[in-house]
Amino acid sequence: MGQPRHRIAVIPGDGIGQEVTPVALAVVDAVARRAGITIEPVTHPWGCDYYRDTGRMMAADALDRLRDSDAIFLGAIGHPSVPDHVSVWELILPIRQRFEQYVNLRPMRLMPGVSGPLANVPAADIDMICLRENSEGEYAGVGGRVHRGTPDETAVQTGVFTRRGIERIVRYACEVARSRPRRLLASATKSNALQHSMVLWDDVVDEVAAEYPDVTVRKYHVDALAARMVTHPRTIDVIVASNLFGDILTDLGAAVSGSLGVAPGANLNPERRHPSMFEPIHGSAPDIAGRGIANPIGAIWAGALMLDHLGHRDLHDRVVTAIERVLADGRVRTPDLGGQATTADVGRAVVDALS
Ligand code: ATP
Repeated sequence: MGQPRHRIAVIPGDGIGQEVTPVALAVVDAVARRAGITIEPVTHPWGCDYYRDTGRMMAADALDRLRDSDAIFLGAIGHPSVPDHVSVWELILPIRQRFEQYVNLRPMRLMPGVSGPLANVPAADIDMICLRENSEGEYAGVGGRVHRGTPDETAVQTGVFTRRGIERIVRYACEVARSRPRRLLASATKSNALQHSMVLWDDVVDEVAAEYPDVTVRKYHVDALAARMVTHPRTIDVIVASNLFGDILTDLGAAVSGSLGVAPGANLNPERRHPSMFEPIHGSAPDIAGRGIANPIGAIWAGALMLDHLGHRDLHDRVVTAIERVLADGRVRTPDLGGQATTADVGRAVVDALS
């Protein structure tokens, strides 16, 4: 039998995406190579520069070209010259939707040695993972805008919640909760105000939870859950949330974990009918792009999640342990974490810490 090979479609994208992506892939390659696994990256030049040149965020046949890869690695998308709704709706969301990446998984941990913004909260107290519904809900794109430019101008943006969509994300979240020692699941709701969509959400949570008697499921209104993530983060383990709620809660989770630059994300098609996509959760950060000081840890950790998805849990663990070592040691850190190291320095330190 030959050695495993994985074909990875790589979209470095814009701004610091261009800087953190090669560093993350170098770590993935180093750990895979030592295990006799070949990573074959195929890089695509899509993003806002491509849009300025061609009027499109990605090639017309992009989705066909991505279809056969084992996974997709994305750096970051966005530039001040291109409206965000263009860059998001013409690149990120088509990939998520076409490839049925209905799970958005985001670990949020305060790593040892990193000081977060919450006073007197030890690293061990912030260890959460959010499963965000990634295919419908508030970001379904249903609605319209009429009477443009007149005093009667009106916009309607409709949330779309389906039993099937809610059920599959809640079931996935219950499985994740079951795999963790605390077996706690917090469902983010707002059924007091959203009496249609979030009441359906709550009903389906109850039904699915009944299949998981070993998981403790609690419902929180999303505003109360946001407050709890700050005041009692230790009480939160796994979170399941709709598209909008999960988007907001995970930025909060990244903030209480010390830096947006540390947090990874995975867009998963759990049935593996289509490739899944892995990315740091930060954006293109135009304010620091081009200076070589972006923190690559979020991208490296996203690479670890990709290895896990490709069937190499052991390699995931080795990369995360290497990240923990570098952060705990504290000598090699980018400026967002109070250090003076470059993106490349951090990448090299993580590779050195792999052994
Ligand atoms: P988006 O709308 O795509 O999320 P944004 O501009 O709101 O983009 P980011 O691009 O993620 O958000 O950046 C927010 C701030 O966080 C930036 O000002 C940047 O300085 C900082 N930041 C984000 N990612 C990193 C990183 N990897 N390393 C260092 N700083 C970062």
